[in-house]
Amino acid sequence: NAKAAGRNALRFFDAPMQAALIDRSTLEDDLRRAIDLGQLSLHYQPQVVDHDAQGTRITGAEALLRWQHPQRGWVSPATFIPLAEQSGLILSLGAWVLRTACAQLARWSRDPATAELDLSVNVSAIQFRRPDFASGVLDELARSGAKPKRLKLELTESVLVDDFDDIVPKMVALRSAGVRFSLDDFGTGYSSLAYLKRLPLDQLKIDRLFVDHLLKDDDDAAIARTIIALADSLGLGVLAEGVEQESQRVRLADMGCRAYQGYLFSRPLPLPAFMNLLEQTVTNP
Ligand code: C2E
Ligand code: MG
Ligand code: MG
Ligand code: MG
Repeated sequence: NAKAAGRNALRFFDAPMQAALIDRSTLEDDLRRAIDLGQLSLHYQPQVVDHDAQGTRITGAEALLRWQHPQRGWVSPATFIPLAEQSGLILSLGAWVLRTACAQLARWSRDPATAELDLSVNVSAIQFRRPDFASGVLDELARSGAKPKRLKLELTESVLVDDFDDIVPKMVALRSAGVRFSLDDFGTGYSSLAYLKRLPLDQLKIDRLFVDHLLKDDDDAAIARTIIALADSLGLGVLAEGVEQESQRVRLADMGCRAYQGYLFSRPLPLPAFMNLLEQTVTNP
């Protein structure tokens, strides 16, 4: 039968290739069960803004999906997100992320100390492409009781291969409810500047590649400066990701950037650790 033929066909591949294929399909099976088995969680990486001469203030977090595999331990999103995108599993993972993030926002909204926190959620192009994407997000917000204006959706430039007549109405529907949009990894994709004008965005996120080389490479510094100026002229916010050193933050601040994310402030943290960090860094007004 077809299954036996498929198995025999593996003989034509060399051993490492065969191992990789088997590995991939078992990993996919494992990922399919991960939600039900409670192996997924969100980690929270602080997003901060310049506050005063003393330092920065946490304004929110980016929710980053984590998978703890029973045998392999933590599997990197760089491995399982592409796998999920190729298999379609990203739709159920994405729905789980959104539900968990909205539930967290709703909990934060009940305490004045956390009610103003924003939560950024990554959205895959495949998820965004679904006709019911906007209504799905609005339903989740309503069900959870989370405030739409505290939710920020991070899109990447890969969304932009789609028809603008499909993209823009979804963004408009969500934005009119208060949801904000950020363009993630900006500068590494292939979008033209004309797209930026037409997209109802709120923020650009400077890719960490440029931040990483900021002090070593004049070209990367020029690109970072240009993105900051571009955001400013288009009336968008800008956030630099992957800030690891104070010298990078200072340089970015000199360029007019005020919002950052990166290991300098904190790694992505499990919820209890994020809440501890918030408590420690709260400044008396
Ligand atoms: P991203 O959205 O650009 O997220 C930022 C990534 O940079 C995170 O990696 C974060 O841990 C890492 N990072 C933050 N600060 C620093 C730093 O200072 N230095 C360095 N070297 N890295 C830093 P992570 O968590 O491994 O996620 C990788 C990517 O996986 C994300 O990139 C995003 O594209 C994707 N991803 C993660 N969670 C989700 C999710 O819930 N849904 C979707 N669709 N994609 C997700
Ligand atoms: Mg992101
Ligand atoms: Mg990014
Ligand atoms: Mg990235």
